[in-house]
Amino acid sequence: MSKHQFQTEVSQLLHLMIHSLYSNKEIFLRELISNSSDALDKLNYLTLTDESYKTLSYVPRIDIVANKEANTLTISDTGIGMNEEELVENLGTIARSGTKSFVERLSGDAKKDSTLIGQFGVGFYSAFMVATKISVVSKKAGTEEAFCWESEAGDSYDITPTTKETHGTTITLTLKEEEKEFLEFYRLESIVKKYSNHIPFGIFMDKEEYTPSEKEEEEGTTEVKNVQINKASALWRLSKNEIKEDEYKDFYKQLSHDSTDPILWSHTKAEGTLEYSTLFYVPATAPFDLFRADFQSGVKLYVKRVFITDDERELLPMYLRFVRGIIDAEDLPLNVSREILQQNRILETIKQASVKKILGELKKLKGKDDAKYLEFYKLFGKVLKEGLYADYANRDAILDLVLFKSSKREGLVSLKEYKEAMKEGQKSIYYITGENEAMLKNSPLIESFKKNDIEVLLLDEEVDAIVMPMVNEYDKTPIKPVNNSDVDEEITEDKEKAKADEGKYQEILVKMKEVLKEEVKEVKISSRLSDSASCLIYDKNDPDFQMQQMLKQMGQ
Ligand code: ADP
Ligand code: MG
Repeated sequence: MSKHQFQTEVSQLLHLMIHSLYSNKEIFLRELISNSSDALDKLNYLTLTDESYKTLSYVPRIDIVANKEANTLTISDTGIGMNEEELVENLGTIARSGTKSFVERLSGDAKKDSTLIGQFGVGFYSAFMVATKISVVSKKAGTEEAFCWESEAGDSYDITPTTKETHGTTITLTLKEEEKEFLEFYRLESIVKKYSNHIPFGIFMDKEEYTPSEKEEEEGTTEVKNVQINKASALWRLSKNEIKEDEYKDFYKQLSHDSTDPILWSHTKAEGTLEYSTLFYVPATAPFDLFRADFQSGVKLYVKRVFITDDERELLPMYLRFVRGIIDAEDLPLNVSREILQQNRILETIKQASVKKILGELKKLKGKDDAKYLEFYKLFGKVLKEGLYADYANRDAILDLVLFKSSKREGLVSLKEYKEAMKEGQKSIYYITGENEAMLKNSPLIESFKKNDIEVLLLDEEVDAIVMPMVNEYDKTPIKPVNNSDVDEEITEDKEKAKADEGKYQEILVKMKEVLKEEVKEVKISSRLSDSASCLIYDKNDPDFQMQQMLKQMGQ
């Protein structure tokens, strides 16, 4: 036997798991089943692609056994299994970066924390919410040795060599006194149905079945049958009319480890020249790593129902990184390599079609349910806007979806609404960018717009200053920043007076230019101000201005 210390973060996490996470404990089962399913996926993939595994014969399945006498719950699978090093690596450390920030983010608010658990890939440890002791016996497929990992939480765990007949993993939880409910068939069955119904492998359990006797005076018989308790169908392969709304929602929860219903979903089964199925969800909670450079992809790639990867971030464009879901392609080789994935024509076609589909669904939602759309937009609008910059081909579709604050009304307005409310003769859509809404509202640059009752969009997000200069028009109407030199002309109503003013103040203009010298390019009379005396504007053709924009884009 060898004793090992948990990585510090794991100890911390276990401590939190045991002491502060008290609600929604049942998700531990979802986490263990999802690990078993992943392990079966991995082995399935190897048997199809790797010569040395091709002869392996086994039945892929997951078994749950509740032992009331021993007070233990066992979850076992015939998946890939783990060798000694893998047990240490996987169940003694948290490999994924961002762990520290995870532990920091745990708030003590049980509800919020439990949604974070699965997302951070610390699923296994959640079993300590209900167990005092966990033992993991595992044998890696293709090897002869088995090992037992055992821990009662705290700082350490033991690893002991052992024997096991088949490859795979058996996890035994010794339950806390107060968690005996997790030994009841109906309780377990309902958790499995709720979270793991569409795991593509069968989950089996013993069920006692009572048959009443034919003769009235005699007792009936109780028989124990091993039954499959989940559907084990790949939901995305079914046709839409076979799937109930709740099944879509449950599948989302299983896929994303999120306990909130999604905002919308989009299910496609494409047939014809290119065959594939996709099922995408827009969540109602933001993934924790949405703004982290090392964010985890939310889309899993399957080929002919075989899981390939959930670690490929280019399956959808970056600006849709909040989308969760599945792409299942029919015409890809199973052993498609990462390099091939990234420049694969089939995947590229699926990606383009998927983007159109998702943007289309969002547009539909926007037309149908304002409140829900706003809920979406508050969570992900900022990310979506990145697409204005990054995805030229879909820019118009994204422009239909973005919303802005306005100088004239409360709340957020779309460009369509802006256009509909444009004044007669108004030539462009105007916006101002800056750091905060209050400042923008009172900026001298928009005084004359206010005076002329022209709406100005107030863009106070960092991403605005980066993406908006790339956007020149919406639905054939130019979009311009208020500090663009054209704007003067466009909003000056009394051109004659402006001309006259210019003559009148010629002298002072020259003086000012003398004083300011190279600080400014030109000093001009402007009609854009009404209360303030002067303001600074950019010449839109000035290379310096364009340079500044570029520097901004590069994050300078
Ligand atoms: P995640 O599943 O997000 O990676 P977990 O904490 O749930 O995080 O599991 C940690 C790791 O332990 C898994 O990535 C996997 O490598 C390994 N593991 C857990 N359960 C099993 C299992 N039943 N069979 C094989 N490997 C497993
Ligand atoms: Mg897991």
